[in-house]
Amino acid sequence: MPGIPGFWVALPRKFTTEKSGKTGTRRTGGNRSPDPHPATLGGPLAALTLRRRRLDLEPGANKIASSKSLVLIQNLAHPSKMTSRHLLNDLAAIRYPEPFFPEDDETPPAERDTARIDAEEARAAFLAELTTAEESSGPGFDPLLSTLEELVAIKKDADEKIRLLLAYGRIYVTPRPHTLDALGQAAGLTPSGVSRAFGAEEILEVGDRTGLRPAAADVSDHHPELFPEGNASQTRCTWGGSRTNPCTDEAKYIVTDKSGTRWACCDSHLPGYLRSRPRT
Ligand SMILES: [Zn+2]
Repeated sequence: MPGIPGFWVALPRKFTTEKSGKTGTRRTGGNRSPDPHPATLGGPLAALTLRRRRLDLEPGANKIASSKSLVLIQNLAHPSKMTSRHLLNDLAAIRYPEPFFPEDDETPPAERDTARIDAEEARAAFLAELTTAEESSGPGFDPLLSTLEELVAIKKDADEKIRLLLAYGRIYVTPRPHTLDALGQAAGLTPSGVSRAFGAEEILEVGDRTGLRPAAADVSDHHPELFPEGNASQTRCTWGGSRTNPCTDEAKYIVTDKSGTRWACCDSHLPGYLRSRPRT
């Protein structure tokens, strides 16, 4: 691999130099357990060893790795770069840290190698993306702000999926929906936090994504002012229960029956409403 050593020696050395300064505070104990595996010695040489081992195993990956690496060298070495190589490498080290295995960790050497290679590849891809973005965006490009924006987008996406999963567990899982307690423990929320985390919008979105919602379902969030003054639907669930034994739970949604009449509906009666809707 004549084209690669220039890159794979240059970049990991940078990481290693910067990492070693932080090692004392970041790594508990500071002493890694002795590992006979040569690839776990750390440093640029180990990275190179790992890289070559991986390429030996997967000859098809050779060309891809090579082309990415070359892009990176060219970009980083370009004299007119606004962003210092130092900053980009710092961002890469923060965004994709080298895997850390504590002394009592029992991860097999092969899996450790894979984890390190994955992190190394992710860093290389990340650096290539940043340098490409910088070239296309011009001098106004700020890789730190760009990285922040990327992570915020990931966080927003995860938050949305968490809300959808909570709605799914609460409304769609049958015959027994997950309890607010169980969902809250898994999601790091209080039971009332779970209840507030999703509404009609999330429920309908789950239905769209899974196909579980009957097409004729009409659900929206509850607003007391949408019902006449004094109407029971302003405060409590009027969809569930019966005339003689009304549901007294707090209204969370508004549902619409076949005649177009709107009713207030609680969390526990919404699954029944959804099941009762005709499919279209
Ligand atoms: Zn109810």
